[in-house]
Amino acid sequence: MKRLETAAALRAECNALRRSGKTIGFVPTMGALHAGHQRLVEKSVAAGHATVVSIFVNPTQFGDPADLDHYPRSLESDLELLDATGADVVFTPSVAELYPSGEFTRVCVSGPSRGLCGASRPGHFDGVATVVSKFFALVGSCTAYFGKKDYQQWLVVRGLVRDLGFDVQVVGVATIREADGLALSSRNRRLDSNQRAQALAVVRGLCLAEQSFQAGERRVAVLRQLIVDALAEGGAKLDYAEIVSAEDLSRVPETVGKRALAAVAAHVGPVRLIDNVVLGEPSLQAYREGLEV
Ligand code: AMP
Repeated sequence: MKRLETAAALRAECNALRRSGKTIGFVPTMGALHAGHQRLVEKSVAAGHATVVSIFVNPTQFGDPADLDHYPRSLESDLELLDATGADVVFTPSVAELYPSGEFTRVCVSGPSRGLCGASRPGHFDGVATVVSKFFALVGSCTAYFGKKDYQQWLVVRGLVRDLGFDVQVVGVATIREADGLALSSRNRRLDSNQRAQALAVVRGLCLAEQSFQAGERRVAVLRQLIVDALAEGGAKLDYAEIVSAEDLSRVPETVGKRALAAVAAHVGPVRLIDNVVLGEPSLQAYREGLEV
């Protein structure tokens, strides 16, 4: 596995790979890698791409400087995991490499970036869109893998590619969970055992909503309340719980149709966790017993 640190080296390497007849799979990450990230890399490797992974904690997507300071970092073990998973190139630029002094361009997004995390974290998706645009411009023609755990980010990136005309195929990958259902997240590392137990309220609420939807419940207020109550009961502090269109995150009327996204964000101890489930595409049944749902 090659490790590259400059934008010029990444561009040259990707051009050379394409000239040698390879296609490129690209997996952007912020490091502190886990089995969720690993699944994205595995998908790219299995598709036969030369696989390029970036590790970059992007400052422009953090509103809160303390959140940026405390973001977990584990470069050495990340490199080992990527090498073992079959990545070909890892890009680890410095902040100054991607945001050199004097730079002033930002990508602003609206549409699906407005609600949910966009409302709680103003500017977050502009930061995501800016750094992802930089990566796409450097990597060039590729298939890019994004996790649906960050469902809103996945939709924003798909729109970014369409609107700015990047030569990128965006692939969304299903959320990888712990055995008890908690969605894997780099931020989980900061939870102590008590908080780890409280964090389960997030997936428990989603699981209750999924089960109720499967049993025929269609009222948005009722489905949402199941999540709100599960968070309160479990000791997680609600940021938002929303039932929205799974297509574009727009508001749904008082009752939902065949498919909708249930999305949640909650504070547990020092971290903010997000998770979601598409109602109408059940994915949490396997965890019901353990979650006592
Ligand atoms: P991050 O390092 O948190 O920016 O995540 C990098 C990529 O990994 C994003 O596309 C995330 O959506 C994806 N990802 C993070 N956690 C998971 C998970 N539990 N399952 C699947 N993909 C994930």
